[in-house]
Amino acid sequence: MRDYKYLFGPVPSRRLGSSLGVDVVPLKICSLDCVYCEVGKTTDLTVDRKEYFPTDIIVEEIKDYLKNNKHPDYITFSGSGEPTLNISIGKIIDFIKSEYSHIPIAVLTNATLLGDKHIRKELLKADLILPSLDAGSKKVFDKINRPCNKIDFDNYIDGLIQLRKEFKGKYWLEVFILPEYNDSAENLEEMRKIVEKINPDSIQLNTLDRPGVLSDIYPASREMLENIKKSWKFDNIDIISRNNSNSKVNIVQDNVDETILSTIKRRPCTLEDLEEILGIHRNEINKHLSILENNKQIKRNIQNRGIFYSKAL
Ligand code: SF4
Repeated sequence: MRDYKYLFGPVPSRRLGSSLGVDVVPLKICSLDCVYCEVGKTTDLTVDRKEYFPTDIIVEEIKDYLKNNKHPDYITFSGSGEPTLNISIGKIIDFIKSEYSHIPIAVLTNATLLGDKHIRKELLKADLILPSLDAGSKKVFDKINRPCNKIDFDNYIDGLIQLRKEFKGKYWLEVFILPEYNDSAENLEEMRKIVEKINPDSIQLNTLDRPGVLSDIYPASREMLENIKKSWKFDNIDIISRNNSNSKVNIVQDNVDETILSTIKRRPCTLEDLEEILGIHRNEINKHLSILENNKQIKRNIQNRGIFYSKAL
């Protein structure tokens, strides 16, 4: 398979099935520097929108991939930073919808730019938007999400509420719970009030899965997530658990090295993660990890949940 620069996967997503990722912002440009970010520390904390990558090449890669491969369940804008920072995201969405209207588009966004109605408008043709909310106040927002100083918390919340009014597709609000950062009773109540105002189709309670930017953070327990679900009393809360995925991607065995590299390029993974994601027996994955390690193409990082593999620089 051709090595695409701006596409990754398709990866089996817990929520989307087989998802072809489109990366429209370089590593690691973001308007936030979340303490739990799996991609790594934000090196360019900004709200400046630019054509970070050539739009025509991204479009050409999408065309080429879809011409030569099975169509994915979703095309998803996510990856190395905040996708709405790319000024051409609306154009790329429009292109996909005009040529491949049968393939749903998902956008994972931290929502910090959505206070701007023009940026919200660019996303309206997507089928599913997954915005994030981790804080009920500016104080907690500063602690967990560490925003660019040009972001106004109230404007961000207003953007989340306005988007729900304007967007006709599915709106799944992702709420990330991190003990000692945003799990106080006061913050949870403030967040509950905001969630009520937004009124999303689904509330996805999530917690840490992989190493974050800070080493002393740890995931919320299942019990904590269940308690939040119970106390919030919404009937559309899903707890996102690692074991929810039943989607496997069938990959050609020759491409195992390539697929492992492409998978861990954006998210460090354990052997178990790779087994679950790729649907390949762990012995086989181990064999390939050894080769990649010997070739110095990957590196290890030992964490509480196990050994995480990531791409060597
Ligand atoms: S988690 Fe998302 S929003 Fe937060 S720093 Fe990482 S890429 Fe940016």
